[in-house]
Amino acid sequence: MKFPIKIVSPKKLKVLWQITTACTYTCSYCPKELHTGRSHDINLDEVDVFLDKLAGKEFTVNFTGGEPTIHPQYLDILKILKRRNIKTISDTNLSRTVRFYEEAGPLVDNWCVSIHPSMFEWNEEKIHTLAKNSYTVVYLMMDPRHWDLAMEYWERLKKIPRIKIIVVKCLSNWSGSDWVGKYTKEQQEFFNTAPSIYTFTNEEIESLKENYAWLQDQASNVTWNDGTTDMLEPDQLMREGLHSFKGWSCEVGEEVVVVTPECDINLGTCGTRHMGSWNNFTTEMLSNTIICPRDYCHCGVDIKASKYKI
Ligand code: SF4
Ligand code: SF4
Repeated sequence: MKFPIKIVSPKKLKVLWQITTACTYTCSYCPKELHTGRSHDINLDEVDVFLDKLAGKEFTVNFTGGEPTIHPQYLDILKILKRRNIKTISDTNLSRTVRFYEEAGPLVDNWCVSIHPSMFEWNEEKIHTLAKNSYTVVYLMMDPRHWDLAMEYWERLKKIPRIKIIVVKCLSNWSGSDWVGKYTKEQQEFFNTAPSIYTFTNEEIESLKENYAWLQDQASNVTWNDGTTDMLEPDQLMREGLHSFKGWSCEVGEEVVVVTPECDINLGTCGTRHMGSWNNFTTEMLSNTIICPRDYCHCGVDIKASKYKI
């Protein structure tokens, strides 16, 4: 059986800003800690002070939640980042209005849209609105209890221009969730045969390569036990249950800075290092190697950090 023995990242720093854990949805497979309703007023002057501390480093800011777009200062913060020319990535479950996405769309370089068939009311215009200005990746949650609807959305998504579509298997007990799902043999087979789909023209793909080289620069490689190497797809590792790195040597502390809803800093989303308020943060705190204490690595950003089996 093929399994990973090493992951090598380009060591580009990512600031993962969990701006709120409030969410408009209540997906049954969602880990409880992702929708606990934590949301606070943010001192916008402190945003600039924090970003100044990182000024000597190359980094991107990824907004996540909960549903990050519902934080009342989300647009204000995006405008600060835009003014400073910092590349941004943002999650959204598409629950805001088309009008909101018209305003937010161009402020984000890379949208990561998640579609949850149990919650989402189909609205194609929102996806068009994001895709016309930014590189938009749609993660379709293949909920086994809403399989037919998920398949219907899969077909509809393939007709929308300028997006990348990734099908996501809902994981039982994902990150402490008590949800357990079962897939039929045919459904399992779908995951083995459904590739990521790009609905861009060749010309658009060439332009993406040029304008989004910084995203490509964030790609990690995985080395397998048979000595072969591939570009790492975190979702693939999670789908196949190959995301356990307990006892491995991991460098997430140098690569992933998490800002919590209270504006505290953690290194890695897995919470192995707490550094206190962002007001006291210095880049000297970015730590070296840790030995992974967790049974599973649940976040794509964490999975992409360099690590190797010892
Ligand atoms: S949209 Fe995301 S954060 Fe919100 S409940 Fe669903 S899985 Fe959780
Ligand atoms: S769970 Fe944390 S320490 Fe373990 S491999 Fe993932 S990022 Fe590294």
